[in-house]
Amino acid sequence: MKTIICGGGVIGTCTAYYLSRRGIDVSVVERTGIANASSGKSGGFLALDWCRGTPVDPLARRSFALHAELDTAIDIDWGYRRVETLGVAASPRRDLSRLWSATAPGWLGENAAVHGQLGTPETTAQVTPDLFTQAMMTASGAALVEGAVDGIILDGGCATGVLVDGNPLEADAVVIAMGPWSILACQWLPLPGVYGLKGHSLVFRYTPETPRALFVELEDHAGEISTPEVMPRPDGTTYVCGLSGEAPLPVDPAHVGTEEGGPEKLQAMTSLFAPELGAAEVIASQACYRPVTQDGMPVIGAVTGVEGAYVATGHSVWGMLNGPATGEAMAELIVDGAASTVDISPFAPERLPVLDAGALSVQN
Ligand SMILES: Cc1cc2nc3c(=O)[nH]c(=O)nc-3n(C[C@H](O)[C@H](O)[C@H](O)COP(=O)(O)OP(=O)(O)OC[C@H]3O[C@@H](n4cnc5c(N)ncnc54)[C@H](O)[C@@H]3O)c2cc1C
Repeated sequence: MKTIICGGGVIGTCTAYYLSRRGIDVSVVERTGIANASSGKSGGFLALDWCRGTPVDPLARRSFALHAELDTAIDIDWGYRRVETLGVAASPRRDLSRLWSATAPGWLGENAAVHGQLGTPETTAQVTPDLFTQAMMTASGAALVEGAVDGIILDGGCATGVLVDGNPLEADAVVIAMGPWSILACQWLPLPGVYGLKGHSLVFRYTPETPRALFVELEDHAGEISTPEVMPRPDGTTYVCGLSGEAPLPVDPAHVGTEEGGPEKLQAMTSLFAPELGAAEVIASQACYRPVTQDGMPVIGAVTGVEGAYVATGHSVWGMLNGPATGEAMAELIVDGAASTVDISPFAPERLPVLDAGALSVQN
């Protein structure tokens, strides 16, 4: 059985990994480079139970366990480690000294105080996203096909392959895992819309003395509120995100870039709560789009009415976390006919209206 996965982000590469473990011949078609988009530019923060109370909770718990399992099973270092996670409040306009600050890391500035422990090493962890996504691709042994998927080959209601830059590539099953670009597949398959929400991030050359993942509620001098997230990484860098962008999703992932003033604003925000970090050398200024659906939940499953066609996308802020359990469930669905480790019925694509392809608004 041959399967083609469209998109080399964390969802595509995790699906490739679990399919190859089932003996399936897998090819990943990627337009711009494995992990070039949000799967290489996200925080890489993982949490056991932060999706509790939502249908995503079982997927998240299974994935949190699989991340630990993969770290042991595969001999590639992608920066996996358990972390303590703190909630921080910061403001140059208020006295925050009455907040609990017993464990405030020394690298936080005087405007910042810890207000709570959000996670312990039992419940929160991290990966370096591009390394993890690349490692899943390597460990899968899947073939990489470089090119843009620009069509699905349909034969009598079955998907029998894809067009890559206009050239046919045949398969028994096709998986759409192009993150926010999965919206392009609405031209070829009856699928719900997937949209891109843009965020900026910075990578600083900085190793804090006591590495902690931070979720910051920041009030700036003008009273504007933002919520930066900080992930110190084992490779001597610290990642900060938390500033959105307005530009619409370009059709070509290579055209995603930062917006004027974005990196500078994020760096200034960082300096308000962690001055030493904010003054450190910036080694990457970047932006990416997280894939979101109409109801905020992923779409994972078979495409209704088109045998051999599948979709896995729309993971929003939890794609790095939920990649492994999504990949595992997709492999079960394709090979066994149903997912058994996690109930994916809440994520069935048919719960949402099919997008009229004429409504596409992506721009090059
Ligand atoms: C700022 C930010 C921080 C985040 N932090 C976290 C976090 O801490 N923890 C967490 O769990 N999640 C986080 N996320 C969310 C996570 O990054 C995403 O949910 C996840 O990366 C989505 O993965 P994906 O594989 O679905 O999509 P993508 O990573 O977007 O991959 C899709 C791939 O498809 C390719 N492609 C596009 N068009 C075509 C085509 N026509 N043909 C072939 N290939 C194509 C693209 O080049 C791309 O490589 C964050 C997101 C953002 C934006």
